Parts: sequence; structure tokens; C-alpha cells
Amino acid sequence: MSSVETPAGPAAELLDVDLERVVAGLPKVSLHCHLIGSGEAETIVDLARKHDVVLDGGRTAEDLFDHAGYEDLDEFLRVLDVAGSVIRDVDDFHRVAYESLTRGGAAHNVLYREIFLSPPGHPGVPYRTILDGVRAGMRDAEADTGIRSNLIVGLNRNDSAAAASELVDIVIENRVDEVLGIGLDYSEAIGPPEKFWKAFRRAGEAGLNRTAHSESGPPHHIETILDLLGCSRVDHGYHVVDDPDITRRCVEERVPFTCTPVSSDIGRYSGSGDGTHLRIKQMIDAGLVVTIDSDDPPMFGTDPTHDFRVLARALGYGLDQLAALTMNGVEATWLDAADKAALAARARTMIGALEPGAQGLR
Ligand SMILES: [Zn+2]
Repeated sequence: MSSVETPAGPAAELLDVDLERVVAGLPKVSLHCHLIGSGEAETIVDLARKHDVVLDGGRTAEDLFDHAGYEDLDEFLRVLDVAGSVIRDVDDFHRVAYESLTRGGAAHNVLYREIFLSPPGHPGVPYRTILDGVRAGMRDAEADTGIRSNLIVGLNRNDSAAAASELVDIVIENRVDEVLGIGLDYSEAIGPPEKFWKAFRRAGEAGLNRTAHSESGPPHHIETILDLLGCSRVDHGYHVVDDPDITRRCVEERVPFTCTPVSSDIGRYSGSGDGTHLRIKQMIDAGLVVTIDSDDPPMFGTDPTHDFRVLARALGYGLDQLAALTMNGVEATWLDAADKAALAARARTMIGALEPGAQGLR
């Protein structure tokens, strides 16, 4: 997937073995992963069969996700909508959530995830159905693997401001403990952040946390997200580094940025698509609170381990730097202080266990 070449020679092989041990064993905190985008291709094809739907001109599990080949964001979102349209009943949501949290989460040492739901991505499906299925999947995944999780309801910025406000009302009327906040995703060009100020204000008044995607948008979108929408995190946010003043402010306020190396490289957002992850490097070097996750893992041919792997290779990172990214993730969660402290302790213990053999990476 990554266009970064593995260095050749025996020393490089040794380094790679140790890198593999570290990236696989690293505890991970997942704050930028979409439920629909984490559905495995085989599962989506299965669900299409179950509901008697011919997938997008007869696509199969092999060609459903065209990893590096999405022409642009619109093409990616079209495939995402195809996947979302066949996740329909409680069992479907249970299955996708469970698989994403176990095979796509705990198996990669993800200790905790805040999952993005996209209710508008499942046309005609009641919000309650989504919640019932996903929460059951979360409970079963925790019982089987120990992974903990909560939810973020993503507003679709391709929709009208009124539709977004309506969704916030539904979230508030159907309040459950697991829904910690709201987000804002889909096309930033169609829906700039200020368009949704009312929906975000309503969410804030109801005590919901807030975050918003800013992948392609200019740095001033980040100020809008923080000041007008009242967000405490930014998803992606790569263009922050184009404005030294906004960067400085975000460093001072310790605003977390949830970066997704593989998907953003494919989309040419975090860099120029050459696997150098230049913008993420600039963000980390500037002292911003950067966290790492995989966005829509099967759709981009990645997983939580692989995103750390490509970043470590591109930036020459070892355990210390990767562990710092994980601890940023702990800090950036919307957990309460006690749960955050427990998560931090668990992560530190696992990082400590990785240390003895990892000196070659430092
Ligand atoms: Zn995203």
C-alpha cells in the first residue's frame, strides 16, 4: 500500500523485524475510525446478498474497494454510500461493529476506540436500530477481547444545515451513555464548517463533545471549528501548518489532531501522495498533539498497525516517538479523568513491555 521502499540489506532486515514487533505490540487509541468504512469487503458483499442487493454493477469482495484507485473524494464517498446502504438491521450493525472492534481493533492492540457513526449513510434506517446493533457489538467485543469503545455521531456536511440540526435533535432525544459527541464529515468543499454552527451549538448546549473533519480545507477552517463550532478536537487538520499563528495557538491549547496517514496519503491530503507524510511530520515537529488512526481501514487497504508502520518507516520513528503518539491519543479521548488515567496506565505498561528489545530502533 505504501509507496515507501523498505531499506535493503541485513541491518535493514533486523530493523524491520524490530519495527514489526514494536508496531504490532504498540497499544493504540483509535479516535478516527468510521463504522461504515471499517466494514470488511466480504461482510459488505454478504450483507448485500442477504438484502438481495446487487452491489454497484455487480462488484465482488475482490473489487469492491479499489484501495489506491479512488479518483477523488466523491468517488470514495460513492463507494462508502454503497457499503452503508446494505448495513440495515440490528444484526448487520452488530456484525460490522463487532468485526471492526475485534479483528480490526483488539487484534492490533487497540485498547479504546471512539467510533464514528454516519446515520445519513444508512438511508431509511432508524437511528435507534443503528444504536441497538452497534452497542450490542461493542458490548460483545469488550466481553470477548477487553476493547472499550464509545460513539461519535457524524453529521453529513453534504446535507443541509437543517438536516444536520435535525440529526442532533434525534441524538439528544435518544441519549445513551456511549454517544460522547458529534462530528462533521463528508465533503468539506460542499459544506464548510460555519454552515453547521446551529447544529453544533445545540449539541454543545446538550453537553455533547464536538469534533470536525478538516482534511482539504484552509487553516482558517480550523479556527472556525474551534471557535464557532466549539470543537475540542480536529480530524485531520493538515493545513494547520500553513498558518504559523493558528499552529502556535493549537500547540498552546493542546488541540488534538486525529491524523490518518494511509488514507490521507492516498487522497493527497497529508502530503503529495508519495508516502513521505510531510504534513504529519510538520505537525509533530511543530509540537501539535497528533494522534494516529486508520479512518476507513479496509477501504484503504490498511489497519491500525499498518498506519503506524508506514509512518514509522517514512519518518524513521522508533518506540519513543510511536509511544508518544499513543499517549497523545489517550489525552485526546473524551473519557472522564478516572477512565483516562486507567487507559494511560494500561498503555504505559504495554509500552514498557516493548522496551527491552527495541533499542535498535532508537
Ligand atoms: Zn474520517
